Amino acid sequence: MEVLNLINGGHDPAVGGEWLDLIDPSKGKSYGRIPRSGKEDVDKAVAAASDAFHKWSSWSAERRSECIDRLADKVQENAGLLAEAETRDNGKPIGLASTVDIPRAEKNLRFYASAIKHFASESHYMEGVAINYTLRKPLGVVACISPWNLPLYLFTWKVAPALAAGNCVVAKPSEVTPATAYLLSTWVKEAGFPDGVFNILHGLGAEVGDALVNHNDIAAVSFTGGTATGAHIASVLAPKFKKLSLELGGKNAAVIFSDCDFQETLSTTVKSSFANQGQICLCGSRILVERSIYDKFRDALVEKAARIKVGNPLDPSTRMGAVVSEQHRDKILGHIEIAKEEGGKILCGGFATQPEGEPELSGGYYIQPTIIEGLGTNCKTNQEEIFGPVVTIQPFDTEDEAVELANSTKYGLAASIFTNDLKKAHRVAGSMETGIAWINCWLLRDLRTPFGGVKDSGVGREGGFESLRFFTEPQNICVKL
Ligand code: NAD
Repeated sequence: MEVLNLINGGHDPAVGGEWLDLIDPSKGKSYGRIPRSGKEDVDKAVAAASDAFHKWSSWSAERRSECIDRLADKVQENAGLLAEAETRDNGKPIGLASTVDIPRAEKNLRFYASAIKHFASESHYMEGVAINYTLRKPLGVVACISPWNLPLYLFTWKVAPALAAGNCVVAKPSEVTPATAYLLSTWVKEAGFPDGVFNILHGLGAEVGDALVNHNDIAAVSFTGGTATGAHIASVLAPKFKKLSLELGGKNAAVIFSDCDFQETLSTTVKSSFANQGQICLCGSRILVERSIYDKFRDALVEKAARIKVGNPLDPSTRMGAVVSEQHRDKILGHIEIAKEEGGKILCGGFATQPEGEPELSGGYYIQPTIIEGLGTNCKTNQEEIFGPVVTIQPFDTEDEAVELANSTKYGLAASIFTNDLKKAHRVAGSMETGIAWINCWLLRDLRTPFGGVKDSGVGREGGFESLRFFTEPQNICVKL
């Protein structure tokens, strides 16, 4: 596969002529190349986007919405191709890519194609004196930077509202998983977007990503990725007074009370621990269980986790595939070693593995689902984001202790609470220092709701009209009566 940049409606390699390898993590082998873009490519893309802004922003919301809907049609028509590309690029099971990643990418586009037609601005009447109305103007050229764990899903979650609101976009998908964003770029013209409205650049974060956020003509940056990268981007943008949305890392707790529905909680916890090889920012990586059911729950969880088949991601029966890269596999394995040094007991997994009977996958990056017991809250294992198929399990005695443990990290993205006591459920959910709290479920998403984290998990909210507010500048106009 040869990935190219989309700049001003044309597909080009990087101006500098350099390339990066595209790696299939299920095999550990290169299967293509992507442009190693840099500042010159950013300059071209931002200039094209600036030129296109007047035209695009003067189109009616309905006309812009039609382009986004046509792009959604292409995603729908090519769902099989996209799912396979996502699996090859990321290592995730094809079952997950075809039921979650790609349908959600289509849904993101359709959601914002519709939302922009229902987005109203505010009006404030001063009795007998004046009327104020708020204009919501597009910002100009915006940068959308996305990570590798849910590649097309998170990419479309940003570009759809940015484009719908009338901005021109320079987007940068992760260099680790650029394939589906590239495929999307091949349908942009056919969908009816004027040249320059939607540009996609490929390459390294520290090179093309950094050049993009440093470009003076970028009006805003919407970023999803690691907390350290978010902090760096914030330090670049703050002195320039640019709008910034940050969706960052997590270290989420699952709080399981003894009065939960045991079997349902168990199967939800298996998913929240290991879905997408544990590489979802919302995964519950710290499992807190009330002591009276701790042994029973732990044993049942370990039994289920040990039975998960790590297999060929392209096999529809596979529930757990490869982690995204060699570097990431080694980082996760390093965390498991730290857990052991900290005194953690590995209850299952804890090692790199290979799918059975698949010699061609022997170079791939696979880790057995891992559960660790016996660690306190302040150790690195329970404080740092591992972002792999590794969870810890700890008992608690009281509701207060559960809340304290759940809130005891610098992150604040999500939490899940499992109990059949309605009052307790609401009380504990409200006590979570997180942007999202689920009761008796996990990853149940309504796209209209505010999505994002507190503390080191981010600043701002995406979702519903929140994203359209981010991608527009309010201007109040006051008319004296
Ligand atoms: P990352 O921060 O390394 O990279 C994210 C994106 O930023 C990539 O496109 C990368 O190329 C780019 N980038 C890197 N350095 C840059 C720089 N200096 N300037 C501009 N762009 C730069 O993150 P990752 O490893 O791709 O993703 C994993 C992280 O993302 C995890 O921490 C995970 O929790 C987080 N995440 C958060 C959410 C959320 O909604 N909160 C969702 C998914 C993933």
